[in-house]
Amino acid sequence: MAMRRKKDNFTPGEARSGGTFFNMLPTALVMCLLMLVLIAVAKNVTYTSQDPSLELLSVGKQETVHPVKAAACLLIYEDDEMGTVGLEEMSAILSQMKVPFDTLECGDVEENSLGSYGYLVLSVTHYQYLGDLLGSIKTWVKAGGNLMILYPPELSGSFCSLFDILGIRDCGSSYTTVESLHFSKDFMLGGASRDFVVTDAYDSSMSVYLEDDCEVFAQSSGEYPVPIIWRRNAELGTVVVDNLGFLEKGYRGIHCAAYSLLDSACVYPVINASAFYIDDFPSPVPNGYAEYIERDYHLSIKDFYTSVWWTDIYNLAEKYGIKYTGMVIEEYSDQVSGTFKRNTDTERYQYFGNMLLDAGGEIGFHGFNHMPLVLENFDYMGLFDSYRQWPSYQAMLNSVKELKGFCSSLYPDRTFQVYVPPSNIISGDGIGMLASEFPDIKAIASVYLPGELAYYQEYQVEDNGIISTPRVIAGYILDDYTRLVALSELNFHLVSSHFQHPDDVLDEDRGAEMGWANMFSNLSDYVDWLYSSVPSIRSMTGSEIAAAVQRYDYVDMVQTRTENSIHLELANFYDEAWFMLRINDGRGIASVAGGELTQLDGTLYLIRATSDEVDIQLS
Ligand SMILES: [Zn+2]
Repeated sequence: MAMRRKKDNFTPGEARSGGTFFNMLPTALVMCLLMLVLIAVAKNVTYTSQDPSLELLSVGKQETVHPVKAAACLLIYEDDEMGTVGLEEMSAILSQMKVPFDTLECGDVEENSLGSYGYLVLSVTHYQYLGDLLGSIKTWVKAGGNLMILYPPELSGSFCSLFDILGIRDCGSSYTTVESLHFSKDFMLGGASRDFVVTDAYDSSMSVYLEDDCEVFAQSSGEYPVPIIWRRNAELGTVVVDNLGFLEKGYRGIHCAAYSLLDSACVYPVINASAFYIDDFPSPVPNGYAEYIERDYHLSIKDFYTSVWWTDIYNLAEKYGIKYTGMVIEEYSDQVSGTFKRNTDTERYQYFGNMLLDAGGEIGFHGFNHMPLVLENFDYMGLFDSYRQWPSYQAMLNSVKELKGFCSSLYPDRTFQVYVPPSNIISGDGIGMLASEFPDIKAIASVYLPGELAYYQEYQVEDNGIISTPRVIAGYILDDYTRLVALSELNFHLVSSHFQHPDDVLDEDRGAEMGWANMFSNLSDYVDWLYSSVPSIRSMTGSEIAAAVQRYDYVDMVQTRTENSIHLELANFYDEAWFMLRINDGRGIASVAGGELTQLDGTLYLIRATSDEVDIQLS
């Protein structure tokens, strides 16, 4: 605990920033002494080994315990570019919301295709291909069906024939470009506190003029807003139109939120976790000075990391209860064969690592060095000239064994359960090696969004037993797109997963020129937005979020609705599972049995199931 108040301990910068030799001397001496004391103390810190807030389950991927469910939802798609992307994205969204659904290609629809489905999602560009089904859709909605238009289609007579149920009074013949989104209150967590800029805006949305009985949840910002997501009750059924026109992984949460507006209520499982990873930390720190740190702080890189960067992010964590997961690099050589020599320069590992652990954080593996775990059969496609492939499986294995020995000697009572691939690159060989040779490694945290050569993941348990816990956003710039993706994931999985690297401060592409004060202010602003949007989100280490992903991925449910209640029958339930609940018909919640309830927003609730039967009584 003595290490907590580091900010006051020493300020090397002051010694370099002026003054006479004589008045500098005492400061410098005191500083040196303090640094020695710090190191001595850090070496002897016996951090308290903290119990995780959530234990990893020892059971693997569940195969057969899922309840037999009749598909409630039909997803009709067109076999064109937009239609198939819509199919892909909406399939991912529905399956992760645990909504049982069937898919049907446009060419195969018949007048009676809607059968007993309660929900219909149209991922269709040319509505004329739906033929006679169009008439059936109108009748079906009025009789209680729930229809979602997934993206703005081509404006045809066939589509216009649906205007009376969609609530469209008038529609311009050209599409409009939406530069920024304004969300209404009670639609998406964290959505209403600011407007969200749309990156790469194009003429994506229909310029519609709606009937008065439409309820608009998202619209373009500005004086003449274009409705982007709206709902309309059409007799006994509901209709949601998603006029956004961006179908990609980073927007899934918006489409999930739109889908959840259908019907009188919607329940879906969530992870409920906020994780912060620190890349290459602890790791050897470069000697010397860096342009922007020198400019703003007159400090060496080493001193800056210790006295400014770490102090700031440490205090940020303390303020919000963040638990950092630090990803260790033993050294920065490009050695890929031979004997991997132990790094003996361990003072900073002791100092930072112990502080991080003492504050409730976790240490994970990043690499012996920063060479991704790929063999010579891996194609870097000319993108990473400085990276070398490992010549053999054994060499790759030896390097990680050395890292494990190194970490075990530094942090003897810890188990290292989380791995982050250097540069987000790892091959099937590398993953297979970790899964089979290092049973302690339970989770791989690579990236969520696809990117060049990146190993990108979903939140799930893989067949080899490894839990995928992707990081969603990164860095200290936190640009418009990052903000939108963060909003999306907060609402889709109730997840925030951020990744920062101390050397972001050295790299112009990652914002160095704006200076650390501005970079840190961006991060603080994000953290503040996150924890004020969902004060009840759980701050977790890499292992804890992995444990949360296990429960989220395993759980399945059958819902039974009555006039006054929602009953959830859970399968693959262990000790807890989390659900987001949206009530659409203006009712409140009288009681919950088998779980605990937290109101997140006017119509959004978080449920922690504590039993495999959850009964929600509506008021
Ligand atoms: Zn790294």
